[in-house]
Amino acid sequence: MADDAIRCDACPVLCYIKPARTGACDRYGNHDGKLVRLDPHVVLDRAVERGDSVVPFLDRTTEWDGTLIRNNDSQSDMFVTAIGAGTTYPDYKPAPFIISSEVAGVDMVTVVTEGIFSYCGVKVKIDTDRHLGAECSTVRSQGEAIGHVTTSEYGSQMLSLGGVRHLTGGSRREGTATCDALLNLCNGKAVELKIDDGAKIVVQAGKPPVVDGLLEERMRVGCGSATIGMFAKQWFGKVDEVVVVDDHITGVLSEHQAGKLLGVPETGIKVKGRRSTPGRYFQVAEPGTSWGGTDIDDPLEILGKFNAKKAWSGMRLLMVSTTGEHHAYFELDENLKPKEKSLPADLRDSVARIRENCEPALCTVMFMGGAGGSLRAGVTENPVRLTHSVRDALTRVTCGGAPVYVWPGGGITFMADVSRMPQNAFGYVPTPALVAPIEFTLKLADYAALGGYMESVRPLSSISTGSDQAGPRRVSARKDNPWPLEARPEAKKT
Ligand code: SF4
Repeated sequence: MADDAIRCDACPVLCYIKPARTGACDRYGNHDGKLVRLDPHVVLDRAVERGDSVVPFLDRTTEWDGTLIRNNDSQSDMFVTAIGAGTTYPDYKPAPFIISSEVAGVDMVTVVTEGIFSYCGVKVKIDTDRHLGAECSTVRSQGEAIGHVTTSEYGSQMLSLGGVRHLTGGSRREGTATCDALLNLCNGKAVELKIDDGAKIVVQAGKPPVVDGLLEERMRVGCGSATIGMFAKQWFGKVDEVVVVDDHITGVLSEHQAGKLLGVPETGIKVKGRRSTPGRYFQVAEPGTSWGGTDIDDPLEILGKFNAKKAWSGMRLLMVSTTGEHHAYFELDENLKPKEKSLPADLRDSVARIRENCEPALCTVMFMGGAGGSLRAGVTENPVRLTHSVRDALTRVTCGGAPVYVWPGGGITFMADVSRMPQNAFGYVPTPALVAPIEFTLKLADYAALGGYMESVRPLSSISTGSDQAGPRRVSARKDNPWPLEARPEAKKT
């Protein structure tokens, strides 16, 4: 090993880095013989968000005198995130930054670290009716299995991607492809995914999905039954029968409770599929990417023969999908066969209303990770106390300053919406694992009580001249995120 190479000890890879070169993850480099974290350390600033004039970060009249709290740092308006903060390894070392601040007269501390997550993944919500693949089908990126299709939700298809099994339990290629897809999704980039025996999709946080090359525009207004319930009044008197085609629950106006209450007469319609309750049918067709998430292109395929005792010649029938994207209007001829006609003007509005009630189709990417050994031991010498403190709402967990949902039960397993974080908040290490920012904020007294590294606590102002940083980058705090330093109402009194 060349003498001038230095060793990075920020993760288990322990790279030797030559001068002017970077380590395997590109996060650390050898700068004049010093190990430096290459990306700027991100500090959220509420003053920037408010449009106030910003006090220069380095504007300090005196050197830090070693006290834990300084009162002239606009502290309550600045929040030190873990983005660019670096990682400490092995686990027992204190987190890279343990920052004190005074908020509304209370001494607070924020422990920040870029956590290395081997146990992590993303849950992806894709607003589309279209069938992307059967539940449990494998999802692939770069040809490698990186996750699976999970239970669909109301108007959305869901994917569960990543997780320790794909990161560590398969081949190296599988782990690398998984890490790569997670990193790009979490950093807001578009990722192409292929589902076994299903669709090819392009997913990007906050953007509409692309399914088999088609940009999805609308998220359905509801299931077929709900659509009948919502629009029955608007159809009443203008048409004799309406069928809202839906892969899950197809609705039939004349049989549905909404139609019954309005006095819609029976029409003798026969819908194929399994009748659940009046006017609600399951399994009218196979799942697909056409009408209402089914595989049918001709809606009449889901209808049987009309009952001659109830139906009549000239009966008016509207068939429509749950997004209004597909619709067709028919009238029964003298043989009670539906004949397609152009949509009457007074029904056009109702179809347009369905479309109008659809929300824009988007992809949502939720990062999910478990704060394990290195994270908790970097906060306190007695890690379980941090878990208890989080559960007791004494410690607030944030991810790049964004709010997280901490799952009940054991451990600190949390989810965060990546679109609420600053850009490029995530990194990776080639173990492979994802690097994600995580911050723990609590009262200084509580931190001392849980066995925190009090000797490592320092004020915000001390980081601006730290030799280990190029200098923090101020980023405007998002208005829609709760301010991480604000007291939470649910926090127990201590
Ligand atoms: S992979 Fe990155 S963090 Fe890990 S040792 Fe190498 S340079 Fe350091």
